[in-house]
Amino acid sequence: MKPMSLDTPIEYVKGIGPLRGELLKKELGVFTLSDLFSHYPFRYEDRTKFYKIIEVNDDLPYVQLRGRIIQMQTIGTARQKRFVAMFKDDSGIIELVWFQGVRWIAAALKINVEYVVFGKANRFNSKFNIVHPEIEPVTEENTTFASSLQPVYHTSEKLKAKGLDTKSIARIIKNTLLSFSPGAEYSQLFPETLSNEIIEKQKLISRAEALRNLHFPENSILLQKAQFRMKFEELFFVQLRILKLKVNRNTEIKGLVFSSIGKLFNNFYHDHLPFELTNAQKRVLREIRIDMGSGKQMNRLLQGDVGSGKTMVALLSALMAIDNSFQACLMAPTEILARQHFESISESLLKMDINVGILTGSTKASERKALHNGLQNGEIHLLIGTHALIEDQVQFKNLGLVIIDEQHRFGVEQRARMWKKNSSPPHVLVMTATPIPRTLAMTLYGDLDVSVIDELPPGRKPIQTIHKFDSGRLVVFDFMRKQIAEGRQIYIVYPLIQESEKMDYKDLEDGFESIERAFPPPDFRISIVHGKMKASAKDQEMQRFIKKETQIMVATTVIEVGVNVPNASVMVIESAERFGLSQLHQLRGRVGRGADQSYCILMTSFKLSSDAKVRVETMVRTNDGFEIADVDMRLRGPGDLEGTQQSGIMDLKLADLRRDVQILQLSRDIASSILKIDPDLTLLQHQRIKHHLQVLKSNKQNWSRIS
Ligand code: ADP
Ligand code: MG
Repeated sequence: MKPMSLDTPIEYVKGIGPLRGELLKKELGVFTLSDLFSHYPFRYEDRTKFYKIIEVNDDLPYVQLRGRIIQMQTIGTARQKRFVAMFKDDSGIIELVWFQGVRWIAAALKINVEYVVFGKANRFNSKFNIVHPEIEPVTEENTTFASSLQPVYHTSEKLKAKGLDTKSIARIIKNTLLSFSPGAEYSQLFPETLSNEIIEKQKLISRAEALRNLHFPENSILLQKAQFRMKFEELFFVQLRILKLKVNRNTEIKGLVFSSIGKLFNNFYHDHLPFELTNAQKRVLREIRIDMGSGKQMNRLLQGDVGSGKTMVALLSALMAIDNSFQACLMAPTEILARQHFESISESLLKMDINVGILTGSTKASERKALHNGLQNGEIHLLIGTHALIEDQVQFKNLGLVIIDEQHRFGVEQRARMWKKNSSPPHVLVMTATPIPRTLAMTLYGDLDVSVIDELPPGRKPIQTIHKFDSGRLVVFDFMRKQIAEGRQIYIVYPLIQESEKMDYKDLEDGFESIERAFPPPDFRISIVHGKMKASAKDQEMQRFIKKETQIMVATTVIEVGVNVPNASVMVIESAERFGLSQLHQLRGRVGRGADQSYCILMTSFKLSSDAKVRVETMVRTNDGFEIADVDMRLRGPGDLEGTQQSGIMDLKLADLRRDVQILQLSRDIASSILKIDPDLTLLQHQRIKHHLQVLKSNKQNWSRIS
């Protein structure tokens, strides 16, 4: 027989063959022996215990029985057809039932042969049965166990139909592992990927031993060690890749040098700043200043909860660029937000000799032309806009700084396209209020330097969040009237979910009508903003609200991000159970921006799913974005959070960012200390690591070719 290697195509692995090989590729993405070995069990079962049939009850997650079939028959026809076997041990009888594969199972089973049966018992008409149990004749192997921990693998109905249930997957993996002689040959199959230094210092077991124990744990201690070892390896290489990106960038790219703080900055800072900066804002500005003067290209993430004052940091950073004869641009995710930035920034700069332009999807062709010219000849110093800024026609004379507001709406790729707008890549500042759990930030934005504004402007009172059922609406209306009487303004937000857009707009319209009835003109005035309106109409309605011509703003989530009306002190969120946590937090952040006590009222129906309950309770309990982000990640898992798809963390097979925080931190620290002394991994002791990094990279390319 040809010796097998990890690259052996899956169909050549003993016990698989072409047909099942195809299925494994399709169903599980298993293409090679190596893939099969990294198809890890997702849990382990204790198969040492056999139950007596009399002990069976439906509280047990599963039972394992030993006995014989005394009678069996196919019952019913067509869709009703099922196969029933009476299974007996010395304590009683239980029914085994199959609805699928009836013909096959009927032919396979024999009366009076001793079987091992495994499955979940259900109560049916006061008797117990097991539907679709695992069943196989008693053998030495399935009745005596070296270890109590049996692996359970993910499989699929199609694979099971071809005989690849979890047990046979286990058997194939085991036989393949055993076909290599223990010792050298086996160890060579799973060569070490980490350096001796790491292995010794962290007391890791070898890769070969870890893999064997992941599939067939000798005992629970070795299983834990195996899991730790492989999780560490996974996270270590993710971190190494990310941190290496950053190191490479710093060595390969020469950053524009903003050598001085100039007239404009100083003038603005001393004469036009509308408020004293918070200490956090000052600290962040120093960090940005150092980056942009250092000769490195800045790639910085600015995290600051909603309302923490990121816009002013952006403006002051732009002034640093302009002072050094560079242009700057500020990109926002929505038209409303871009216009709002444009207006507030233009106003701040009124007394200064700086030209600010705005470019969005709805900018007219004639204006666009003038803008393009102004950008190319350098007349426009600061351009504000939506992702229309990315378009290739938009060329600058010398773009020095790109600021991206509310990062999560922009992909990594869009970020990279902005780099190309100058012969040397401009500095990049990414601002986000989306709270990200620490583990995720380390992975998603692991290549960016991070600044945090962890302090709100003074005088803010924490927002009070209240949960009301729809039945309590009249009380809420009364409360709103009181607030309006005190001169405050109010947002009412309706959910908008793509699939049922029509229905959503109906909700919005109905809502608007009932609000109008409860708050009739001329005493009350209402604005409405939603995604189907033209940009100009949206803008007009927004302006009416900003100018206090209207007291209530009825909207869909178009106002989610960034809108700033400090006099608005109440946020009512309709059908709050339909929003995710980060969205709720964003929406709540629209209020609490002035000195007045602000409120967020979450309206829900009476019936709530358990997740929705947790979301609402979390919002009521805390204003802390990071705590909210952690709950969010626990509820949804990291995979569903925005931005994770592109990060590579979805490839993690064992590590779980919710639980393995410490291993992640450890792996990041070690990766970073290695790159510090050996940025190109040229030292002898790092050759294994370097090699494995390359293997992972090339695997990734194969993968994209296949899928
Ligand atoms: P975000 O970080 O959510 O983008 P903004 O930049 O929109 O927050 O700022 C929120 C509000 O706080 C704005 O009205 C802004 O003028 C105000 N603000 C920002 N910094 C300060 C400060 N240091 N002192 C007082 N008010 C501030
Ligand atoms: Mg903002």
